[in-house]
Amino acid sequence: AGKRRKRVMVLMSDTGGGHRASAEALQAGFEQLYGDDYQVDYVDIWSNHTPYPFNQLPKTYSFMVRNSLMWRIGYYGQQPRFIHVPTQTMSSLFVSKQVGEAFEQYQPDLVVSVHPLMQLVPLRVLRQQARKGGRTPVPFATVVTDLTTCHNTWFHPLVDRCFVPTEYCKRSALKNGLKEEQITVHGLPIRPAFSAKIASKHSLRKKLGLDRHLPTVLLVGGGEGMGAIEQTLDALDARLGGACQVVAICGRNKALIQRLQTRDFSGGLKVMLCGFVNNMAEWMTACDAIVTKAGPGTIAEALICGLPLILNGFIPCQEEGNVPFVVDNKLGKFERKPERIACILEGWFGESRAEFLQFAEQATKLGSRWRGALLRIVADLAGIHGGGGPAASLSAAVREPDGVGLA
Ligand code: UDP
Repeated sequence: AGKRRKRVMVLMSDTGGGHRASAEALQAGFEQLYGDDYQVDYVDIWSNHTPYPFNQLPKTYSFMVRNSLMWRIGYYGQQPRFIHVPTQTMSSLFVSKQVGEAFEQYQPDLVVSVHPLMQLVPLRVLRQQARKGGRTPVPFATVVTDLTTCHNTWFHPLVDRCFVPTEYCKRSALKNGLKEEQITVHGLPIRPAFSAKIASKHSLRKKLGLDRHLPTVLLVGGGEGMGAIEQTLDALDARLGGACQVVAICGRNKALIQRLQTRDFSGGLKVMLCGFVNNMAEWMTACDAIVTKAGPGTIAEALICGLPLILNGFIPCQEEGNVPFVVDNKLGKFERKPERIACILEGWFGESRAEFLQFAEQATKLGSRWRGALLRIVADLAGIHGGGGPAASLSAAVREPDGVGLA
């Protein structure tokens, strides 16, 4: 028999699109660096390995984040350690049997969490299993997928390593009791499609069925298709009409797609309508600017593609800090009102082109520092359980001297 592949189990959940995208990125990163040496499985522990009502978490999230007040209460209510530690410890009494079975099933050599609610419970279960089996617990790492403001549940002092994207998040980790040597600042793990060589804007527009010459705006609201997508289309139609085209990506928001399919735009705006797309790197490369909520994944991807950003909203709490991150780093603007957004874009494609180009240059500069983050994280992860092999030296070779972000 050949040698056993090392197994990495990535814990994610479909709350938003970011955690899945990060899990996919890690899987692809391991493949790129180590080929067949690793098997990487990503598992939605809450949906698939906990009993009712815990398995309803992603659905509840989808509902809760749309209600700002309820979400704030839920989020801040669980922020103090003296609340969330007992709450999660309680839940682990109900879910640990099934979570334990998941670990038995996947037999991981390394567990990596890309979700804020997957530290305490899995760490407890892994420790219980290790005690029973008389061995050391399976190594556990957290890869934080928020950019600035992070919930405290992301940080558990018992993790072997915690990867954070910015110095801002590192400070949160330290405040939550992690030690300097447990924390590494590399950037967000963005899918390799964003750093691979990709076709030119011109040929991608042809391939994707877009006009090759019109200024092109990408309109997106995270994995769930959140925000004022329809109103923004109306405003762009009224102000710019046929002078620009828009790619509207609605993610998993089926109701929105259905509604938009029946719409026509009397001003002559060209609209390319998409549901959840798996080739975001292509769409971003084909466009000139992006209008999005302040999702960390989308922001990082847009920077890698050199797109100036207009943030039109944020999920309360965990995305709030991303607004000053974008504005203060001169990567774009924050504007909620669709009419004002149309006005900014009209400027960018006309009289204020110099401002647009400055944002694009700054985005490209920051984005290029994040390109290598995925592989740096993967190489370090492989090093945690003594694996890694030839690529282990990569981490030092491409390491960033400083964390990126707000000081
Ligand atoms: N995404 C995607 N296809 C879609 C919509 C979104 O691949 O149709 C990806 C997007 O590229 C990003 C992630 O989903 O990687 C969204 O993450 P973000 O952190 O921006 O927001 P979230 O949805 O997690 O709130």
